[in-house]
Amino acid sequence: MQTRVYAAPSAGAPLAPSTIDRRAVGPRDVQLEILFSGICHSDIHQARGEWGKAAFPMVPGHEIVGRVTAIGSEVTKFAIGDLGGVGCLVDSCRSCTHCGEDHEQFCERGAAPTYNGTEMDRATPTYGGYAQHVVVTEHFVLKVPTNLELSGVAPLLCAGVTTYSPLRQYGCKAGMRVGVVGLGGLGHMAVKLAAAMGAEVTMLSTSPSKQADAARLGATEFGLTSDAATFKRLGGRFDLLIDTVSAKHDYNAYLRLLRPFGTMVCVGAPPEPSPMAAFSLIGGNKRIAGSAIGGIRETQEVLDFCGERGIVADVEVIAANQINLAYERTIKGDVRYRFSIDARTFAS
Ligand code: NAP
Ligand code: ZN
Ligand code: ZN
Repeated sequence: MQTRVYAAPSAGAPLAPSTIDRRAVGPRDVQLEILFSGICHSDIHQARGEWGKAAFPMVPGHEIVGRVTAIGSEVTKFAIGDLGGVGCLVDSCRSCTHCGEDHEQFCERGAAPTYNGTEMDRATPTYGGYAQHVVVTEHFVLKVPTNLELSGVAPLLCAGVTTYSPLRQYGCKAGMRVGVVGLGGLGHMAVKLAAAMGAEVTMLSTSPSKQADAARLGATEFGLTSDAATFKRLGGRFDLLIDTVSAKHDYNAYLRLLRPFGTMVCVGAPPEPSPMAAFSLIGGNKRIAGSAIGGIRETQEVLDFCGERGIVADVEVIAANQINLAYERTIKGDVRYRFSIDARTFAS
């Protein structure tokens, strides 16, 4: 079937309306009519060719929530009319060690990303969620709680799981001091989720204008990182830092905020490398770590966690023809705190 999309024709070119083909629904496939699609900063990095490998035309979008409009004969998890979600992955080998342990993002054969990659045949390009419809194999379609505002559910499929996963991995719990660096799409989910897990959360931001929001989202303290005094005041404070910053910044400065044996997890993926001194880790037995999205089991877990607690992303709903403007605003840090595209507007 044909579906209307917004696509980047080449690296850095504005996104424009276009039409693509989606495959016919196979026995294990689920077809979604997309309702909302979030704009992740990773969409911008990739549409602008900032991470190197990029295939064009590119239809970004890996925060997808929609309504099931067709299912294959062997599908058991979904019925027509159900809600469904799709995140950053649309397939993997499902037989390697990592797939077997529910870490499909680390599939030994290379998982199929939702866009800017290929299906497991290594030939068919994948196109993402800035579209009216998508067809995905059942295992990679998530169950969506029915009690949440759907525009704010879409971002849970990437921003949600990407912050939930390291919070779980590093044992976020009541009494833990967690610092979240960067208040954007990922950062605001990190604050909400860490606070919901009972942690004492500090927001570390370059934007004084976001202080009141940080408190509303669940942070009990705010540190302005453009002020050197903040790094003195909060030195040695945190058990865990979740760094969501999208641009080059000084990791050494943030490592000084950890208490001994503390961990800083990088989820923000700046295109440019940033030097890190061994001494930033040695004094205090500190750790710096990375974390990539989450597997399908963990993505379902964050959706269920948010469903039970009534947590959604704070979104600004936009029409498809505002995507390029939304990219500019996101780069400037002017998003409160995720853009969510009303997918009905891809039709016009
Ligand atoms: P976003 O909404 O643009 O938020 C990024 C925030 O970082 C900004 O709002 C800003 O917050 C802060 N920031 C920006 N430039 C900065 C600078 N030069 N110095 C210090 N802080 C700065 O982006 P997002 O969608 O949350 O994504 C964040 C990053 O995570 C991106 O690089 C994205 O590609 C990456 N990502 C990684 C994964 C993964 O699997 N690891 C998954 C999804 C996204 P303040 O105004 O508060 O300072
Ligand atoms: Zn993303
Ligand atoms: Zn695998």
